[in-house]
Amino acid sequence: MEEVSARKIFQCAAGHAARFREKITELPQRPELSYPAALATFREALPEQGSAGAEVIGDLAAKAEPGLHAMVGPRFFGWVIGGSHPVGVAADWMTSAWGQNAGNHHAAPAAAAAEAVAANWLLDLLDLPRESSVGFATGATLANFICLAAARGEVLRQCGWDVEAQGLFGAPPVSVLIGDDAHATVFSALQFLGFGHDRVVRVETDHTGRIAAPAFAGAATKMTGPCIAIFQAGQINTGAFDDFSGIMPIARDIGAWVHVDGAFGLWARAAPSKRALTKSAEQAHSWATDGHKWLQTPYDCGYAIIRDQEAHRRAMTIAASYLPPSDEGERDPSHFVPELSRRARGFATWAMIKHLGREGIAAMVDRHCRVARAIAERLTVEDGINVLNEVVLNQVLVRFGAALPGEESDRLTQAAIARLQADGTCFAGGAVWRGRKVMRLSVISWLTDDQAGEMTAEAIIATWRAVRGGTLV
Ligand SMILES: *Cc1c(COP(=O)(O)O)cnc(C)c1O
Repeated sequence: MEEVSARKIFQCAAGHAARFREKITELPQRPELSYPAALATFREALPEQGSAGAEVIGDLAAKAEPGLHAMVGPRFFGWVIGGSHPVGVAADWMTSAWGQNAGNHHAAPAAAAAEAVAANWLLDLLDLPRESSVGFATGATLANFICLAAARGEVLRQCGWDVEAQGLFGAPPVSVLIGDDAHATVFSALQFLGFGHDRVVRVETDHTGRIAAPAFAGAATKMTGPCIAIFQAGQINTGAFDDFSGIMPIARDIGAWVHVDGAFGLWARAAPSKRALTKSAEQAHSWATDGHKWLQTPYDCGYAIIRDQEAHRRAMTIAASYLPPSDEGERDPSHFVPELSRRARGFATWAMIKHLGREGIAAMVDRHCRVARAIAERLTVEDGINVLNEVVLNQVLVRFGAALPGEESDRLTQAAIARLQADGTCFAGGAVWRGRKVMRLSVISWLTDDQAGEMTAEAIIATWRAVRGGTLV
């Protein structure tokens, strides 16, 4: 067996990673290799003999790099995802190197302590009820799941049913109200929890994708029995926010547990200029958000925030005789997520908040919203390009040739997206919005500045001119 030098291997990995980041602003915003080509690069028979550690790391970097998508680059706008900030990555490396099994505060005191402090910082930053508990999950999908598990337990407990012990068979039916433009993963969370994604009541949304008070009132009047209402801060296409001030009193009147999916939009609360968008969202019972989006931590990092700490713990607690007991008042990370053994996610969150500070986070959110607005304004003056949404946050929805018949405009939009992606100056993805093809841009990487926004707008305009020139002559 080769003698393994941790220092040598870590330095080798750090060298590869640093070289990748050093060229990130010049890399094309697309992978060089397609998936089949990447598969061909990795494919080999199961190794019978091992290889030296540094060699394995070097080989991994050489094989992976051509197939990496520069998602941490300044002009990546493909999905609403963060840019894995180097400070968060470094904290995450140490987390891995330290190898703490973070479930329990006796076994891993530093991991539990950093998480407890980061949890309080999050509540302060997002200005949510300070008595809330926070579960550090893999992302908002799981955070939504955790919050809705607590909701399910609590609304049934109030009807005298213990779902944690008895399960759902024979339980009083729970009504679930959810916006028609909610994120797909919330429907998945409902599916995992036995609510079924088709059994829920979909509340009509307006043209921006938000739930307005009259639509919610209409759906709410038909509700009887235990009820969960799911709202949204930040629609993935338009960035729209449900009308919290209008709908919260209605939800309260029907006694619903109110959950807010704010995977990225909840961070509007951290920026004074955007805060008003989330007014009254603090009245909810639970909130899901991500660290690996606007806070720029590396994956996996999401937060399940629940006002009723007891409901949170009832839904998630794992107890076994071989686990150290939980002392009165002490916080065990595993009590707030469905995992026992897991990485110490609190370290990266702690490091990112410490690095950016309240002001740095507010400035970053502001900057992204400003860049999104500037891109939209620049695109709007170009003939044949339409921005479909009011840019309230960081999302821009673009349609090309909108004055032409729908199918023709769909085709041009599709062609513009493909051409932009092939060009590689910036990356934007496609979506379908209100039945029509659109290009969508999400401005959310810590590296994205005004200049990156200008380059992006120019690249999109050049792409459009080429696409239009090719078809309309
Ligand atoms: C990203 C996102 C999710 C899912 O979060 P993951 O971190 O990808 O699990 C849920 N809801 C909204 C609104 C999102 O933007």
